Amino acid sequence: MFYEKLGESKVRCELCARKCIIPEGKTGFCRVRKNIDGRLYSLIYDRINSATPNPIEKKPCYNFAPGSWTFSICTPGCNWRCKYCCNWIISQESEIEGRKMTPEEIVQLAKNSGCRGISYTFTEPTIFYELSYDTAKLAHEEGLYNTWVTNGYTNPEPIKRISRYLDAATVDFKGSGDERFMRDFSSVPSTEPIYRALREYKKRGVHLEITDLIVPRVGDSMERVKELVEWIKENLGDETPIHFLRFFPTYKVRDIPETPLKTLEEAYDIAKAAGMKYVYLGNVSERNNTYCPNCNRLLIKRRWMETIEYKIRDGRCPYCGEEINIGGERWIPPGLKQ
Ligand code: SF4
Ligand code: SF4
Repeated sequence: MFYEKLGESKVRCELCARKCIIPEGKTGFCRVRKNIDGRLYSLIYDRINSATPNPIEKKPCYNFAPGSWTFSICTPGCNWRCKYCCNWIISQESEIEGRKMTPEEIVQLAKNSGCRGISYTFTEPTIFYELSYDTAKLAHEEGLYNTWVTNGYTNPEPIKRISRYLDAATVDFKGSGDERFMRDFSSVPSTEPIYRALREYKKRGVHLEITDLIVPRVGDSMERVKELVEWIKENLGDETPIHFLRFFPTYKVRDIPETPLKTLEEAYDIAKAAGMKYVYLGNVSERNNTYCPNCNRLLIKRRWMETIEYKIRDGRCPYCGEEINIGGERWIPPGLKQ
């Protein structure tokens, strides 16, 4: 899906913002889409290299179907090359490995494991678009939700098509989207496509959550945090949940220490001061509850990634009646809705 023929043998992939021009016999930047005889093929349509139930909070998605479990899948490959990727073994591998699995089998496994939805995650769902699209369509027919955990580098037309079946998307910023950091640490030439993608998701009514990985020394500018928060507020709304994530040294970035809690708290305070209603910290146990933005009462209590109390009633605060941005209420486990 999503490519154009250029002359006799080349193709241009239109799936992600890289728009790779791929000669005959070669693959694009993501290594998993190949030009064979002038046609572009996905090499990973049926190559699942991770499939496991997770709490939806692990994505992280805090304001969508809290307390539910989601069947989380991925294939090899990625359209970014982050030097700090904690899933680098599967996202950066050159070999196309994985177990053959059809969309029907994935949906069945999700149902058998008691999950209420499917998340396309761990690597980058854009590059396994066709599998994600077919599985998401089937999942909807079977009453399951679908969420993407994505770097946001997808082009508008593919977003438009998948949005019919997508209930939520977590879009991951790194270093608050600082251009230099993204170029040096993620091989991303421009961040503009991410903002374009976010506007497209918003337009299509997909529930959005934003994460921002704060990396000490190289991607922890509080000025950038402020700019990002202001952009989110203006373009996506103050009800958009935002998660500031702790970085841990990994893969090629082992000489930078983990993010100090106080840096994360500083980012949290900036977002709250800007008027964002749902702000969280991630990869730490602090500041991960949901409070009513009007009366400040506790609405969702979490212990790490487990939702242990849920007070929202019909999308509203039970104490003051404030409308709460909570998506996917029909998938919240009945035991939590008391
Ligand atoms: S999906 Fe892969 S082949 Fe297509 S433009 Fe992006 S990196 Fe290139
Ligand atoms: S975008 Fe995500 S999966 Fe891809 S390399 Fe970066 S951190 Fe890893």
